[in-house]
Amino acid sequence: MNWNDFAGWGRKVADWAQDYHLTVGDRPVRAQTKPGDMLNALPQTPPEQGEGMEAIFADFEEKVMPGITHWQHPRFFAYFASNAAAPSVLAEFLTSAIAPQCMLWQTSPAATEMETRMMDWLRQSLGLPEDFQGVIQDSASSATLAAVLTMRERALNWQGNQQGLSGLPTLRIYCSSEVHTSVDRAIWVAGIGQANLVRVPIKGDWRGMDPAALETAIQADKAAGLQPAGVILCVGGTGTGATDPIADCITIAQNHGLYTHVDAAWAGSAMICPEFRTYWPGIEGADSIVFNPHKWLGAQFDCSAHFLRNADDLVRTLAISPEYLKTHGHDGIINYSEWSVPLGRRFRALKIWFLIRTYGIEGLRQRIRNHVAWSRQLHSALTAEPDFEAITPPMWSLWTFRYAPKGATDLDALNLALVNAINDDGRIYLTQTRVDGALVIRFQAGAFETTEADVMLAHQVICDMARNLT
Ligand SMILES: *Cc1c(COP(=O)(O)O)cnc(C)c1O
Repeated sequence: MNWNDFAGWGRKVADWAQDYHLTVGDRPVRAQTKPGDMLNALPQTPPEQGEGMEAIFADFEEKVMPGITHWQHPRFFAYFASNAAAPSVLAEFLTSAIAPQCMLWQTSPAATEMETRMMDWLRQSLGLPEDFQGVIQDSASSATLAAVLTMRERALNWQGNQQGLSGLPTLRIYCSSEVHTSVDRAIWVAGIGQANLVRVPIKGDWRGMDPAALETAIQADKAAGLQPAGVILCVGGTGTGATDPIADCITIAQNHGLYTHVDAAWAGSAMICPEFRTYWPGIEGADSIVFNPHKWLGAQFDCSAHFLRNADDLVRTLAISPEYLKTHGHDGIINYSEWSVPLGRRFRALKIWFLIRTYGIEGLRQRIRNHVAWSRQLHSALTAEPDFEAITPPMWSLWTFRYAPKGATDLDALNLALVNAINDDGRIYLTQTRVDGALVIRFQAGAFETTEADVMLAHQVICDMARNLT
């Protein structure tokens, strides 16, 4: 294939994509294939001779699509939404056509400066103060790793990168039991060790960290000769939307000189609505905050917005300047590769620009408000049914429930069977989690094209499937 043939196929792909999005609601949400189906459909050895695009495209439709779980489906209520709004997909198409490398200002000046501006648009949209600067990371996991490395270097007086960790003080990092597993991995990769990730007990409906217990844990570690380095807080944890009391925990961290990172990967998008900021008062005191516009906001994956109150600490931790990366003669420019672990960087700011300009912040707010309102409506309707128990309350658009008909003995097995039956049915897609050891079912609404009718259909599907089980 050469570029003379590209436009024809590009039009075909665009038509296909439009049709896909308009009709995705007719497909089962979760792929209905079995393990091995895709593998067996692919030849064991690569072709020696090139093939025509017709054959490749036909195989894509026939062999690949049945094995896709449709994250853009309007009745995707599992995990968290991973939206790809139309303008952000167009921006990604352009980005992949240009394929710039955005590691330094000079390797892509427009991308760098647009990233600075888009991160500031997002900062304002979330109501964060002007002293926050931002960078777009590939994932929340990467942002959390960057924050943990910063905590480490700061606590070790910038000696860890140089000397390695042996012989240096044992660092301690604090979080609740509700944080995402990306925190564990960041701790492993940073060489701090799982044993030094201190799980502070939670309390209350929001399942947030108990500040008094945080204080006690820090003091006990100091008394034992260990060195506290930082606190990782969550706003909208993955399982149930757990949210730490941000103001109280940050005050304690600051009293001990500790760096704070807030993981709001999912719920951060909701903070474009002022009424939802009541979930994170005190956020302006955080050192580092991450949220994923690629989840609820609508930007095509991947796109993680990472805000820093003092980017110098991060840059001091991650910047590396061999001669070939130096940009001589330009003062005050930003080289974003010094703000992230990978060197190579995609032009992610473009899709934020396309997205925000197309809908306006108000258009994006309206979607999120609808999702929250409809989700709460479903919560009331379902938990009013005799055999359904509310487990955790709605946190934004996320809540959990359990099917508990009278006389049922093994509720974990029953609820797992229910979730599997629902997903085999295919009209909606849900996932399970554990709350205090019990297996429960999660519901969240956040797909860009979800309607009120889609959310309310979940009521019928859940009840039908449950009654068929028993
Ligand atoms: C989705 C999620 C993550 C992981 O995000 P990635 O961008 O996939 O690394 C981390 N924390 C929370 C709370 C999340 O919801």
